[in-house]
Amino acid sequence: LLTASGLSRSFGPTTALVDASLTLYPGEVVAVMGPSGSGKSTLLHCVAGIVRPDGGRVDYDGTDLTEVSDSRLSDLRRTDFGFLFQFGQLVPELSCVENVALPLRLGGEPRRRAERTALGWLERLDVAEVAGKTPGECSGGQGQRVAVARALITRPRVVFADEPTGALDSLNGERVIRLLTDAARESGAAVVLVTHEPRVAAYADREVVVRDGRTRDVGGLG
Ligand code: ATP
Ligand code: MG
Repeated sequence: LLTASGLSRSFGPTTALVDASLTLYPGEVVAVMGPSGSGKSTLLHCVAGIVRPDGGRVDYDGTDLTEVSDSRLSDLRRTDFGFLFQFGQLVPELSCVENVALPLRLGGEPRRRAERTALGWLERLDVAEVAGKTPGECSGGQGQRVAVARALITRPRVVFADEPTGALDSLNGERVIRLLTDAARESGAAVVLVTHEPRVAAYADREVVVRDGRTRDVGGLG
């Protein structure tokens, strides 16, 4: 589905990635682990087309994402990718159902239809009760489920999640990961899951370790 190879990226004097690679097959969950500052987020951003790498290529479905125009890249991110981040992912001024509906609205769907679909996803993630609330009125776990619903509503082919359990206690964190990986597997989406926590990585099919900007494939987990 996606093959990134030879990725490098520097920020001024800091080398964040050196010859990093990542391969994703349809429907698999890959955990990206490694120490703080090793380049995990930079790898995810380069693979997802959020940051342009200095070198290397990202083949997605026969297209090299490092060579497509900014506008095509942002269209592709909207239609094919879902995102889930540790902080600030929901729009505080919008209700939860509006937040979840947002990717469909940006794709031109009428409000009523988009929000009906969004409510279905909130129900599926067991947080329909917060539909009319703003993210500020949700608990951390509820907010993160709303974010999972928003990441999946476009039925993306790849979900990029950067420490999605960061702010949650381990029980809530595991619930969110289980919901994310189950929903992704059901819909055939691949998931790239950046995490520090072995308990979270245990939900993945495969693990990639990043150290000093280099990737190492450590194969399947038990
Ligand atoms: P963490 O586990 O703490 O999130 P990480 O593995 O995700 O760490 P990255 O965020 O990818 O690490 O950062 C890798 C290196 O690149 C670090 O040294 C960081 O300081 C640097 N870096 C990342 N983004 C930028 C940026 N926008 N500007 C300058 N330096 C950056
Ligand atoms: Mg990071």
